[in-house]
Amino acid sequence: YGAERYAVVSGANKGIGYEVVRQLAACQGVVVVLTARDEKRGRDATSQLHHLGFSNVLFHQLDVLDPFSIQSLANFIDNRFGRLDILVNNAGASGAVVDEEALKSLNIDPTTWLSGKAVNKIQCAIKFTYEKAEECLNTNYYGAKRLTEALLPLLKLSPQGGRIVNVSSLRSELKRIPSEEIRNELGDVETLTEEKVDALLTKFLVDFKQNTLEANGWTLMLPAYSISKVTLNAYTRILAKKYPKMYINCVHPGFVNTDINWHTGTMTVEEGAAGPVKLALLPNGGPTGCYFDQTEVADF
Ligand code: NDP
Repeated sequence: YGAERYAVVSGANKGIGYEVVRQLAACQGVVVVLTARDEKRGRDATSQLHHLGFSNVLFHQLDVLDPFSIQSLANFIDNRFGRLDILVNNAGASGAVVDEEALKSLNIDPTTWLSGKAVNKIQCAIKFTYEKAEECLNTNYYGAKRLTEALLPLLKLSPQGGRIVNVSSLRSELKRIPSEEIRNELGDVETLTEEKVDALLTKFLVDFKQNTLEANGWTLMLPAYSISKVTLNAYTRILAKKYPKMYINCVHPGFVNTDINWHTGTMTVEEGAAGPVKLALLPNGGPTGCYFDQTEVADF
């Protein structure tokens, strides 16, 4: 492989991740590792891309909840390429159990979804369980963090400075958290640390278990999902400060029609992949430590 750039995308067997792989593979000189937790789903997606002519896509299994799977991917990239240029942390879980039929019959219009006003209306169709909340934090926050830590030594070898793209969400925006104290703690990049973020997440889970989320100022609209993405943004800023030679950003891809939102989204995956792909291919001197709403810089 004498490629110019090597890229890895997590959770890429479907949805936005799959489309990010396709768009990256369409760029001259980029080799992309499509990863999926399920071997069959991942291999099927990779074959589909091979049929479309993208022979520069390789498959490797990756479950971001499994440290052995992460290490195996890191070893694979090290042996094959000896470095990594682009990491797209895309794998995500919703933190909810949904009754899709019941949700459909509610007929919620997309603007209500986006504003968060649907929170009361959706309660009969969507359940936020403790188990799902834990899985959500472990996937969206700790999973992205574990994968990043394992691949950082290879990203540091990228001659142009590695690019890390954390696929976040509109739900990550600080203004959506009712508690001013939590907003201030997660919004102050000068004093943020990984330990503080961990402590907040532990506190969140305690509040979840004790049914004190509302009383303690956490959001009730997709609570675990929202906080997993707020903390993913915080981690993005911490890393960007620590590694000034790299380009590390997070992005809301848009409200995209995929499985994660039970197909309530209004945009196509092609449109949704545009932001993450732009950040993966940032030219030298581009922004770092920023949050993007699709393809434009926005406030955290
Ligand atoms: P999908 O549900 O289509 O894709 C999610 C992907 O993540 C799937 O490939 C899924 O694999 C994978 N995944 C879940 N858990 C793990 C795990 N433990 N290890 C590895 N992969 C895992 O949803 P989207 O394409 O919409 O989501 C992609 C990203 O975009 C997510 O981070 C999501 O939060 C974010 N996002 C999406 C929005 C939207 O409107 N769609 C809006 C804002 C953010 P499997 O098929 O095996 O379940």
